[in-house]
Amino acid sequence: MISYQIVEHGKPLQKVAFEKPKPQGTEVLMRVTRSGVCHSDLHIWEGYFELGGGKRFYVKERGCVPPFTLGHEPFGVVEALGPKAKGVRVGQKRLIHPWIGCGKCAVCKAGQDNYCVSGSRILGVNRAGAYSTHLLVPDPKYLVDASGIDEAFAATLACSGVTAYSASAKLPPLTREDRVAVIGCGGVGLAGVAVLHAKGVKNIVACDIDPEKLKTASRLGASQCVDSCSPNAPKDLLGIAGAIDFVGTPATAALGIAALRKGGRYVLVGLHGGELVHPLPPIAQRAIGIVGSYVGNLAELKAVVALAKKKKLRPMPVETRPAAEVNRAFDDLLAGRIVGRVVLDFEKVAA
Ligand SMILES: [Zn+2]
Ligand SMILES: [Zn+2]
Repeated sequence: MISYQIVEHGKPLQKVAFEKPKPQGTEVLMRVTRSGVCHSDLHIWEGYFELGGGKRFYVKERGCVPPFTLGHEPFGVVEALGPKAKGVRVGQKRLIHPWIGCGKCAVCKAGQDNYCVSGSRILGVNRAGAYSTHLLVPDPKYLVDASGIDEAFAATLACSGVTAYSASAKLPPLTREDRVAVIGCGGVGLAGVAVLHAKGVKNIVACDIDPEKLKTASRLGASQCVDSCSPNAPKDLLGIAGAIDFVGTPATAALGIAALRKGGRYVLVGLHGGELVHPLPPIAQRAIGIVGSYVGNLAELKAVVALAKKKKLRPMPVETRPAAEVNRAFDDLLAGRIVGRVVLDFEKVAA
């Protein structure tokens, strides 16, 4: 098998050949066909997240130590099954849910793997990920039937789709007149616009600094577009019922929180970094909520796949590139040149 690995943080990924693993127990070996490139891969590649105030969280503290294979938007074909793996057959195409917990604790048993603290096995974060011709999945239950959906677009649902879906579920109850802001229209933000539209939200305000991304947001269902850097942005957003922040800087948090109507909710998803300083009394007086949202669970992935199957979820632009171009994809993503998602094609990589 061939993987593109971080050998040193911040340096180009390197192509490395390995022996293919043999699935044990309930494990499934997947032959990866498509693998989405997510902005959070860039943070892991750089090796840290900015916490603000000069502090950083280093990914090695959660077990991500080079050499490491990134990639948490996997789509592939079942290649081999462990002796106890049930429910799928060799040759079946499946979307892979990467947000896998220990599988044994109470939160995992309740289907909330993404909140597991007893030993996450997240593909591409704690375990070898999908920038690879092959991927070992702990159990067939994490394989989702996405038939009828274009494979490259389906791959993006494993992070951008499910992350947007889970964040949208944390908004307050909405009336028809309520407006919801989507701050940041990168890959996950555009999925946010599409998910809100698919769920019937009428007034979606897309915010970004890039007119091209705003144009795409309109196509996916945004009813209003705001240049987040414009001095009018705070006024344009004022009175929103909810804001989902897919950027996550002190500036975007300030924009989203200040614009909330009473009882409104700010949902933080983006991991750009920094810290939040906010006076306490108005949080109580305005009865606003500030809540974080991290990826999503298996049931939420199935729900967003169902929306895509019913053609309710408008697909964001997806550009499929050969896997060997992963480093160029990183450069383009870092420079903000990608509208939608780049998905790597591993089909033609000799394994
Ligand atoms: Zn991601
Ligand atoms: Zn667990």
